[in-house]
Amino acid sequence: MRIRVAHLYPDYLNIYADRGNIAVFERRASWRGHELEVDAIGMGEAIVPGAHDLYYVGGGQDREQLLVAPDLAAKAEPLREALDGGAALLAVCGGYQLLGRGYRGFHGEDMPGVGVLPLETVAGERRMIGDVLLECELEPGRPRSLAGFENHAGRTKLDPGAEPLGRVVAGFGNDGESGYEGCRLGRAIGTYLHGPLLPRNPWLADWVLAQALAHASGGEPPELEPLGDELEADAHAVSAGRAHSRGGRSR
Ligand code: GLN
Repeated sequence: MRIRVAHLYPDYLNIYADRGNIAVFERRASWRGHELEVDAIGMGEAIVPGAHDLYYVGGGQDREQLLVAPDLAAKAEPLREALDGGAALLAVCGGYQLLGRGYRGFHGEDMPGVGVLPLETVAGERRMIGDVLLECELEPGRPRSLAGFENHAGRTKLDPGAEPLGRVVAGFGNDGESGYEGCRLGRAIGTYLHGPLLPRNPWLADWVLAQALAHASGGEPPELEPLGDELEADAHAVSAGRAHSRGGRSR
């Protein structure tokens, strides 16, 4: 099948090799005989509900977020319609913050959010930098481990009852105190983890791909054929080890 991906603001939101996540989607899809078609959606370019199976938003510094926030907020309605129609979404760090109701940056700048994810973010004094390890259960009874790197001033508060992406085993997570990281709403995932996120967490790449394939086919998310993933497992182990030894400490 063809999986149509909309990559939002690739020229602005792209720190920590977030583009690597797209490369992982591309390769893991093609190994299963699927083809990824990636469209960049930039400033002033429209989101057309139904035209894409997966939306991807990367991370950025406050400066870049300030530039894109009004444009992204103006796309709220079509994006919400696309997600209500079953499209998948992965938003990382700066993108994750802007998918919520808003982000107040380090210098007090109020940035509007899309309001798709049930959360709000306000920057604090101290940056939360380091490796992170999470335990996630996107499918009940199937706990999975997620490892990555975080670097954010923003403290994200989920609304009561909102579902986090995972429980923090080591590291800061959403705000350094709730014990949770990220947010999951149906087929949409937001997270602070990058570095990039997917090469060391192939199970999450496959989960998102399966959701996108479900949108493309109009059916259920397929069970994707397993891959070897030895290098990926090694990368995950290194990252998880670093999170245990150094996570949750600002430098
Ligand atoms: N600028 C945001 C913050 O500092 C997001 C950072 C990022 O994307 N790494 O919280």
